Order: sequence, then structure tokens, then C-alpha cells
Amino acid sequence: MIGLISATAAGATARDRLAAAWPDRTRVYDGPVGDAVRAAFAECEQLVCFLATGAVVRLIAPLLGDKRTDPGVVCVDEGGRFAVSLVGGHGGGANELAVEVGELLAAQPVVTTATDAVGVPGLDTLGFPVEGDVAGVSRTLLDGEPVALEAELAWPLPPLRVSGTGGSYAIRVTDRAVEPAEREVVLRPPSLVVGVGASKGAPVDEVLGLVESAVRDAGLSLASLAELATVDAKSDEPGIVEAARRLGVPLVTYSAEELAAVEVPNPSEAPLSAVGTPSVAEAAALVGGGELLVPKRKSERADGRPAMATCAVVRRLARGRLAVVGLGPGARDLLTPRAKAELRRAAVLVGLDQYVDQIRDLLRPGTLVLESGLGAEEERARTAVAEARKGQAVALIGSGDAGVYAMASPALAEASDDIDVVGVPGVTAALAAAAILGAPLGHDHVSISLSDLHTPWEIIERRVRAAAEADIVVTFYNPRSRGRDWQLPKALAILAEHREPATPVGVVRNASRPDESSRLTTLAALDPATVDMMTVVTVGNTATRDIAGRMVTPRGYRWQAARAAQEVAE
Ligand code: SAH
Repeated sequence: MIGLISATAAGATARDRLAAAWPDRTRVYDGPVGDAVRAAFAECEQLVCFLATGAVVRLIAPLLGDKRTDPGVVCVDEGGRFAVSLVGGHGGGANELAVEVGELLAAQPVVTTATDAVGVPGLDTLGFPVEGDVAGVSRTLLDGEPVALEAELAWPLPPLRVSGTGGSYAIRVTDRAVEPAEREVVLRPPSLVVGVGASKGAPVDEVLGLVESAVRDAGLSLASLAELATVDAKSDEPGIVEAARRLGVPLVTYSAEELAAVEVPNPSEAPLSAVGTPSVAEAAALVGGGELLVPKRKSERADGRPAMATCAVVRRLARGRLAVVGLGPGARDLLTPRAKAELRRAAVLVGLDQYVDQIRDLLRPGTLVLESGLGAEEERARTAVAEARKGQAVALIGSGDAGVYAMASPALAEASDDIDVVGVPGVTAALAAAAILGAPLGHDHVSISLSDLHTPWEIIERRVRAAAEADIVVTFYNPRSRGRDWQLPKALAILAEHREPATPVGVVRNASRPDESSRLTTLAALDPATVDMMTVVTVGNTATRDIAGRMVTPRGYRWQAARAAQEVAE
């Protein structure tokens, strides 16, 4: 919940706009400002104070505890000009909130956390626990000094701009129970899965004690615990549910059949008759693969009664992360915020050199860039997948949408289910061109690539003919190159068999790029020689019209018929 506090009428107006925009996320605190701030600080995860920063600093100073648990606080000035992230920039999410509030109120977000301003990821924003000298290591990274990286586990991290060895500061990536040395940060990736089994009514202390001692005795750290896992039949077992809650991890459950199919070192009769699988703890921990670090062990009871809980600990395999990112047609403001975030999340970037140039300035320092020239699609796809399989965070980029005549298909054809794949859609050339031309895609439309490099011409021609017969608006991609000049005239001739010579045709070159150009012509008048590979050509259907120089395809023939009838009547 976000607590909203204001003191004056101007502040209250801005506050009410926020409350109206986010009714489920916000709560207004009325009354004397001091009391309101104290109440909100105790009850909310975040605060937006429509007050001077000085006033807020004085009010919250006595309340501040720990930056990991304190709420994030954003201040908005009376004039509504600035949204200042005051405390809890990372842990409390105040930096992000300042940006969101800024967007909503048209205020300038002010973020002073050094790592956000400079583009090095804050060590405490990676999404997993960090221990040790976070301040010292962050400062060293910011200063551009070498920091040694000791990764005992390959995990998909964003680029940290570290050198392999040397330097007096170090980052260690491990799930083992080591204390950070002086000048060292220990990152805890969520690599451990504990499978648990329990008889009905097993006390939470018994389950929890067993899990904690199993992890500890194996020299591992609970900070790397990703989840508890068990069989479906135990999904409501209070001791297990409560243990997961206290450990702060999700409880994941599997069916008895799934667990029975997992090969385990220590199967037994008891769970087979009780829940239908010869192993619960070991099987549930091993479902997703990984290395069994602690085989099944039972709880020990002080009263000597039979154990009621079992557990097993597995180190799961690191899963690489492949983001397939569409960059849009060219203009920076047509690159989505999500695409931008994925580019900065990746440690390895794979793409065509000219697309890499388009976004190079957005990459975090230290990103490994693997660029190649035209024609190396298969190789790029293989490289991206191979890097992800090594456990890296990889972004594979394409112009427009990366799934449209682009890299997503060859990459996913290559990838198996041992990596995570995240797709980020982009604005395609067809959409960018349509927006420039007017509304040519108002009714059914297709894209057809005229490149017969990988597709036999007979198939292309069959599709053009089908679109012509079905009266569908067509956008031609890859319309014409130096060595491929007869395909576009041929395709247009096929459409002309079914459409009037006056049918509008839009030609857009370099949509949204600095040298963008476009023109609206007709099927009869289009000179194919003016079209090249930077261009898309959109041919209207029989209802498309040139209206005031804009290409407009009506949304429905019935609407249009009604309108025509009306015109006749008039
Ligand atoms: N994935 C891209 C398409 C890649 S195929 C997308 O979703 O848009 C390459 C073809 O796309 C080019 O030959 C050209 O026909 C078209 N194209 C890409 N960007 C363009 C732009 N900015 N303006 C016009 N056409 C473009």
C-alpha cells in the first residue's frame, strides 16, 4: 500500500489525482501531518508526501531503521514539479515510484542513488540476497576500479563491470555458508531447493528445524534457498506451509505421478502407501534436475517418538536467460521501456551490427557485445542460445519485432527447455509505416516478404494470389534489392488482376529514422525502381481510399455500404 500525505490545498489536489489513478494501491492519510506520516510509515510499504523534503526529513528521521525494511519515501513539491526519491531508493522501491509518480503528475523524477544514475546495477537490486561490504564494492564499481568476481555458480547476472581477478574488492557468488571477508560482497543466487515430506500433523518447529539443520550441516546458506517442494497431497499440511512462510520462500507441489517418475537414491515403502510415490522429499527436490547435496534425512525428536518429517537438499542447475527483444523501427521513443530494461539486464548482447549501433548507448558498461554482419542469422541464433546455456543473461535483438522475419524463430528452434526465454514485442515496420500513411490496416491485412532467398518464389506467388483474391490489404517486406528486382512488379501485377489501377499504395522508407520518407501513390502509378530494402510497400484493398492525402481502409464493408446508400439518398 502507498500512503499519501498532504498539508495544503495544492498538495491535496495532486494527492487526489494519485489516489484516483491508483485506487487499489493507495490510502490517503488525513489529519495532522506528523501523525499522518508516522501512521503511514508504520502501515505502508511506500509513502508519497506532498510536502517539502525538509519537512519530511524531520518527520521520518526518528522512524528510520534499516534500508532493507524501511518504506520507500517519495516527496512531491507543492508546485508538482518534482518527484524526489528521498529514502529507500532500491529496497523500498522509491526510485521506481518517483518515476511512476512523475509520469502521472508530469513531474520530473529526481533520483540521486549513484548506481541508478550511472548505469551500474545496484548490488541490492539484483533480486537476491547480498551480504558484506555492499557500499564499498558499489563505490569501487562506480569508480571504475577493478573488482574481482569469484563465481562458484554460473548464474544469469547483469554486467557488473568486474575484472576476472585482482583488485582489493571482490564479489563472490555462492550458496555456501561463508562469511564475507573484508572488502567483499557475497551474492546469494536462489540455487537451493529443499524437498520436504511430513506425516499428518507434523509440528512446524520439527519441519523448520529439520530444513535449517540439513542446510546448515551441509555448509550451505539459507539465503540461497529458492523454494520448498513437496507432493500435492501435502500442499495444505500446516507444518510445511508455515515453515515455508517463515523461511520466506514459496512452497511448490507436484503430483504423486510426477514424483514417482523421478529417480532417487532412497525410495521407501511408507510414502508409497500413504501418498502414492516411493519418494517425496528427494523426488520433489530433484524434479527440476540438479545435484543432490543432502540425501533424505529424518527429523530428530527429543522425546524419542518416530520422526514426522523428512527433507533433502538439491542445488538446482542455473538456468540461463534469453531475452528476445524487438527494438522497434528505429526511433528511440518507439523502443519500449520493457525492451530498454531487458537490454540493461543482459550481460551478453547478440545482434546484427547495425541494430547494435542503434542501442549501444543504452548498454551497461561491461556488456559483452557479440555482433555480426548481414546473413549470419543462424550463427547469431546459435551463439545467443549457447551463451544462455552457459547460464548467462543474454539479449538477442532484432529491428521492429524480433519475431517478425527475424531472430526469434531460429533462436527458439535451437533452444531446449533448459533456458528461460523472455519475449519483448516491438513496433513492426508495417505498423510504423501504417501510422505514417494514415489508417491502411483498418481491416484484414497480411505481411508478405518478397525475399526468395529462403522461400521458393512459387510459394510467395501463391500467397500473393491468395491475398489478391481475398481482397486483403498487403504490406510487402523486403520488397526489392539490387539483385532482386522483378519480384515486386510481378506481385503488384497479381494484385492488379483483382484491384483497380487507382487502388492506393503507400511506400514508406526508413520509417521513424532520421531520413524517413513516404508517399502515397496508386497501383498503376507506382514506380518499383523507387523502392529499396529500407522500404515497406502497403497496397490497399478494393475499399481503401486516399482521403485528404491519407490512406484509409474502412473498418467494415457494411458500414461503408450504409454510407454509400446514404450518399445516394442525398
Ligand atoms: N523484424 C522487422 C522486419 C525485418 S525484415 C519488423 O518487425 O519490422 C527487414 C525488412 O523490414 C526491410 O527490408 C524492410 O522491408 C522492412 N523494414 C524494417 N525496418 C523498416 C523501417 N524503419 N522502415 C521501412 N521498412 C522497414
